[in-house]
Amino acid sequence: MDKMKKDFTPTLLDFGPLQIFLARHFGFCYGVENAIEIAFRTVEENPGKRIFLLSEMIHNPQVNADLQSHGIQFLQDTYGKQLISFDELNANDIVLIPAFGTTPLIENKLNEIGIATEKYNTTCPFVEKVWNRSESIAKSNYTIVIHGKPGHEETRATFSRASVHAPSVVVKDMRQAEELAKYIRGEKPVSLFYEEFKHQYSDSFNVEKDLEKIGVVNQTTMLASDTQAIADFLKSVMIKKYGAETTNDHFADTRDTLCYATNDNQSAVSGMLNTQADLAIVVGGYNSSNTSHLVELCEQKLHTYFIRNEENIISQRDILHYDLHAKQEILTSNYLPSKEPVKILITSGASCPDSIVEAVIKKIAGLYPGIRTMEKLTSEFQ
Ligand code: SF4
Repeated sequence: MDKMKKDFTPTLLDFGPLQIFLARHFGFCYGVENAIEIAFRTVEENPGKRIFLLSEMIHNPQVNADLQSHGIQFLQDTYGKQLISFDELNANDIVLIPAFGTTPLIENKLNEIGIATEKYNTTCPFVEKVWNRSESIAKSNYTIVIHGKPGHEETRATFSRASVHAPSVVVKDMRQAEELAKYIRGEKPVSLFYEEFKHQYSDSFNVEKDLEKIGVVNQTTMLASDTQAIADFLKSVMIKKYGAETTNDHFADTRDTLCYATNDNQSAVSGMLNTQADLAIVVGGYNSSNTSHLVELCEQKLHTYFIRNEENIISQRDILHYDLHAKQEILTSNYLPSKEPVKILITSGASCPDSIVEAVIKKIAGLYPGIRTMEKLTSEFQ
């Protein structure tokens, strides 16, 4: 009913001794639904054909395993490492491009083998929007600064496409933006740039010339506030160097290039965090960028448990969860406080099916025998 998506209060599922506050917006986005639909339709319409996915369709292990169980094979892992050589492909094969998109180099390679990439391209329109934005500022001779994770498929695709049109450089966070600023101001020897930003700048990048005019775009799933802070910071560096009256000549107004789903899910987490709760649970794939950012937001306020699915909830005492900082799964005991009601915030990333969130809620509810049933509770929302 909130068509303008202005209301970010979470939905309360009141089980009595357990209260779950579900983020107003969570889970699957348009791009992911579209990609999965195309993948399954492709399987249905092409019996007997070999179907490959360039890499993971999305960053969710269940969805990827489901696709594999339908016979789809992955050509690369999520870091771009080749699992099946392109030499093994032939013109009769189908190769699906994932929602993150891919590089022109790979597209050309597939086209040379005789594999048409347009029909089975699931690149999300919001990712393409970033590519178009990059191209348009490149036409005005701005260098493209991409805020993103250098190894992420989407950033690699955006970087390679941006590099076709203009010098490009990836900054992964504010710390790197601050280092880039030192080269803009001429405070650091140019020679250091090439080591410091190794594998993050385009061919023939000229530090002295190519940092005079810049514009910032981002990997669509970065934290909106981080991208905004980086863009504002680099803009202020340009203003200090060239003067406010010529700002537009040195800094392109790109506004943010986050997708709506990332924005909505992040805003919904901020809204959810206004609730006084005991802990937060974020559900999604451990290598999912947008999910990690939801975890970071929750961690600022609460004990937060990043889990893949309901199996991570081992018992009322133990939970197995991913530590973003140590980059490993860890077991935590006594994660549920012994008080009533226990208040838990729950959200999930854009690549997490709702059925997994439902299974997580059911598993937690099952830890409290005798409470209101899920069916009774959900009937109130019908
Ligand atoms: S998170 Fe956004 S950009 Fe990424 S696939 Fe979903 S809608 Fe597209």
